[in-house]
Amino acid sequence: MASKRDIKVLTELLDLDDIKVISHRLHNGIGIILQTESKKLYSNCPRCGTKSHKLHQNHRHIVKDLPFGEKPVFLEVNRRQFKCETCEKPFSEELDFVRKKRTYTKRLANQTIKDVLKNDIHSVASKGIVTTEEIERMLKDASEELTNLKPLNLKRLGIDEIALTKGHGNYCAVLIDIDASKVIAILSDRKQDTIRKTLREWGLPVLAQIKEVSIDLWHGYKTLVTELMPNAQVVADRFHVMKQINQELDTERKKEKQKV
Ligand SMILES: [Zn+2]
Repeated sequence: MASKRDIKVLTELLDLDDIKVISHRLHNGIGIILQTESKKLYSNCPRCGTKSHKLHQNHRHIVKDLPFGEKPVFLEVNRRQFKCETCEKPFSEELDFVRKKRTYTKRLANQTIKDVLKNDIHSVASKGIVTTEEIERMLKDASEELTNLKPLNLKRLGIDEIALTKGHGNYCAVLIDIDASKVIAILSDRKQDTIRKTLREWGLPVLAQIKEVSIDLWHGYKTLVTELMPNAQVVADRFHVMKQINQELDTERKKEKQKV
């Protein structure tokens, strides 16, 4: 059994407002499993808003969370069903840190998207924490969540892309607030028209504030910047530049070889 002190420390380390750790175990080859419990004793009915204390059913399941060091972390959470005291219908509670029907926490999804931007879907999935299907689901959820978001204080915009696993040459464009290092939009593809539509929806006051746009070397993006952001300077993304240079060197080397 975990001591009171262990529990307190683990709850603090976990750092999720709504839940506390009630026990922990370590499975070799699997990771750390933290059993958790909600701090709140009630939930609000989504139909009528009544605060309900009447527990109807427990629904315990396991979700993945951010790893601790190199150990994967799993949370056993209880998404309780309450019975509304007013409309008398059962409802399942909302949890701040994990969406319904998902096998991972919101913060794991956010971190995974950042990792995918630095690497690619396959290399992130190969670490064994999340699968390619989960990553694509994360991108889709994030894309829906970010729709209609207006980045009011955007100064430096990054336009990046992620190669999707399905379909050949299928990419989605990702718009990033570089200063806040935050993803601000994930678009269904990387076509100029799709990106233009999102940028236009932000409106001129937002676009005129952008001072710098960091893009990869795909020329289509540059055209958009010149067309829509009057005050922005285009800088090539260093990472992409390096990749491009290496590719060019490779091609040169191959040509050299063929000559011999
Ligand atoms: Zn109700």
